[in-house]
Amino acid sequence: MIDLHSHSTASDGSLLPAELVQLAAQRGIQTLALTDHDTTAGIVEAQQAAQQQTPALHLIAGVEISVTWNSYVIHVLGLNIDIENAELQQGLRSIQVEREQRAQKIAQQLEKAGFQDAYAGAKAFSGDGNLLSRTHFARYIVQQGRASSVNKVFRHYLVHGKPGYVKAQWAALDAAVAWINHADGIAVVAHPARYKMTRTQLKKMLTAFKAYGGRALEVVSGTHSRDDNLQMAQLAQQFGLLASRGSDYHGASHFWLQLGTIDDLPRGCQPVWKLWSVD
Ligand code: AMP
Ligand code: MN
Ligand code: MN
Ligand code: MN
Repeated sequence: MIDLHSHSTASDGSLLPAELVQLAAQRGIQTLALTDHDTTAGIVEAQQAAQQQTPALHLIAGVEISVTWNSYVIHVLGLNIDIENAELQQGLRSIQVEREQRAQKIAQQLEKAGFQDAYAGAKAFSGDGNLLSRTHFARYIVQQGRASSVNKVFRHYLVHGKPGYVKAQWAALDAAVAWINHADGIAVVAHPARYKMTRTQLKKMLTAFKAYGGRALEVVSGTHSRDDNLQMAQLAQQFGLLASRGSDYHGASHFWLQLGTIDDLPRGCQPVWKLWSVD
């Protein structure tokens, strides 16, 4: 049982890192990657909790880096990273600054749309010291009774063309891959079927990703359909990329994503975890 994509309260998950690890152990997961958006702040707590499980759970230190490529937002996972690497941490800090500025602009726009104190409201969901994501604004708007689900908030308020949408400039693709490689990690394109790209654009992106030193594709994702998984398996083989698999678990606000409940890799894929598993 392997799940290489999950979130804690260090980003926009709803469980504390230790709670996430406990849930993973209960579900029989043997290898879990914690991959919070643009931060590794939850890793130490998760690692400690993983060591306390019997049998010990193998916790992979990870991160999900926000990237802007040709005006698309893409997520690049760094798996099995050295969280103390200076280049990686400096890179993540630059995204955290951008996130904070974007959060303030989102709040201003939402206030114009009638949400008082949107910044403080979202902050109450993220907790002090954790980064602010659109998910926190979405949870706040649900709490205000202005939408019935986080998913609906995104559709009505937080996506392009809606009142709370703010364009951000995330990391460059080559930079994100380089930070991960500096930290001795494996760069993985997350949920590749979810970007609204044509097949030609997706292939162009993967060509660049490989040239920059990217190694793997998240073939199986909780956010993919079964058909997406099969198509991404083909792409991984075509591009000579290793294959990863992860739920993208966030907790109750994203109830359709469940920890560990994901398909096996389709036949013919080269599992990315063979790089670090001992068996
Ligand atoms: P951000 O990185 O702050 O722009 O937020 C991106 C996060 O928002 C993703 O990682 C998801 O957790 C969440 N998200 C994006 N779109 C949706 C959606 N339609 N419904 C629910 N959550 C979403
Ligand atoms: Mn998220
Ligand atoms: Mn993502
Ligand atoms: Mn994710």
